[in-house]
Amino acid sequence: MQHYDVAIIGGGHNSLVSASYLAKAGKKVLLLEKLDYLGGAATSSYTFEGIDAKLSRYSYLVSLLPKQIIDDLGLEIELAPRRYSSYTPSPTSTAGLLVDKVDQAETQKSFEKISGKTDLESWNQFYARTESIAKKLFPTVLEPLRKRSEIKSLLGAEYRDFIERPIGELIEGSFESDLVRGVVMTDALIGTFAPNRDAELDANRCFLYHVIDGFTKTRAQCKSLNRYCNHAISNSTTVLKRATQPASIACSMTRRHWISSCG
Ligand SMILES: Cc1cc2nc3c(=O)[nH]c(=O)nc-3n(C[C@H](O)[C@H](O)[C@H](O)COP(=O)(O)OP(=O)(O)OC[C@H]3O[C@@H](n4cnc5c(N)ncnc54)[C@H](O)[C@@H]3O)c2cc1C
Repeated sequence: MQHYDVAIIGGGHNSLVSASYLAKAGKKVLLLEKLDYLGGAATSSYTFEGIDAKLSRYSYLVSLLPKQIIDDLGLEIELAPRRYSSYTPSPTSTAGLLVDKVDQAETQKSFEKISGKTDLESWNQFYARTESIAKKLFPTVLEPLRKRSEIKSLLGAEYRDFIERPIGELIEGSFESDLVRGVVMTDALIGTFAPNRDAELDANRCFLYHVIDGFTKTRAQCKSLNRYCNHAISNSTTVLKRATQPASIACSMTRRHWISSCG
């Protein structure tokens, strides 16, 4: 019977990274994935029939992947900056809001058509604030979780607006155009069922995950997440097995039983 130091359930990118670090530290790792592919929500796949291009099924930005992990694990990963942040058609006219990070003049023209000059100024001020938060928060993501009081003193005045107060209120008060507000709110709502003014602050959490990244200026898109996942595995001595039963059930057994039941 095989013996392992650590068993990891699930083969998403967080598990792959953990397995790789453990294997690098000399541990023998068993990684169990119930699907027949690795990568979890960060897996790329062919989306359009007849078109030879892979897209991420869910995660489309890898802006939260710290460079330190790329370096530590020797990952060969290509990151490409995203020129267009977004294009949002207006429901009431033929115009749309284009946010082009390379051509500022195009962005300005687009804002002027949709909402006048004020919102562009507000946009720049708003994102200067999120950038300053990112610079302070992102370096903490690989550290043990800091206390609320520590983050409060790290962020100073921004703490209240971005962390304690529903982000929808701040966005509503910062922009005049509903379309612009909607574009900014996307980062707060995507993947959640939160309301615009979310007293539970789930929308704030979602928003912060989108803006505290290490690539705030040149948000990055991964060209090949599959390659990243495969590399993470092949670069380690990780043992990969497919679970024959849901690991959530197997987990309730002792570690020894669990390994033998899946092995
Ligand atoms: C719509 C959407 C968009 C997103 N966009 C982004 C984005 O752009 N950028 C970003 O950084 N993040 C994004 N996220 C979040 C990101 O996808 C997750 O934070 C990330 O995938 C979590 O990785 P993980 O390894 O923890 O889990 P997952 O990727 O969820 O992987 C979990 C793995 O565990 C396996 N598993 C589960 N249960 C068992 C079991 N009982 N036994 C065996 N295996 C099991 C699953 O099959 C899966 O492969 C998005 C999420 C969603 C839903």
